[in-house]
Amino acid sequence: MGHGYSFKCPNCKSKINLHEGVGILYHYTFERLFFGEKPELKEEVPKEIWEACISLMENGWKPKDYEYQICFCPKCKTLEQYTSFTLEKDGETYTPKFICKSCGTELQKCNPLEMDIPFSITCAECNTTFTARPNPCVVKWD
Ligand SMILES: [Zn+2]
Ligand SMILES: [Zn+2]
Repeated sequence: MGHGYSFKCPNCKSKINLHEGVGILYHYTFERLFFGEKPELKEEVPKEIWEACISLMENGWKPKDYEYQICFCPKCKTLEQYTSFTLEKDGETYTPKFICKSCGTELQKCNPLEMDIPFSITCAECNTTFTARPNPCVVKWD
């Protein structure tokens, strides 16, 4: 269980949940994200970020940490959940930057409730984009 924010699509009424933090099965998830035949990170982050991650790991970088984060675009106010991660080698760390799919601006980690502005959300079911304020919710995952 973690916490997150829920929205309801005004068009198809489906629920959109964004969550943050890490899951309970942390170590299991860790393996599943980076390794195996179908690493989950590959599905969750943009292609270029996954490719950068793979080439670093081939050069001896090791996954150190990951976290689901809520971030927003300072320009178009799109709110998204992304999987942030850190790789490490010889005391140096690498954390990718995520870019807004709508306008190309660098996303920033945020606390949507503190900001209290209408965010722009895209429904994964029907692809409708709408603006709404977030409601806090408890999210079950793992
Ligand atoms: Zn919808
Ligand atoms: Zn944007």
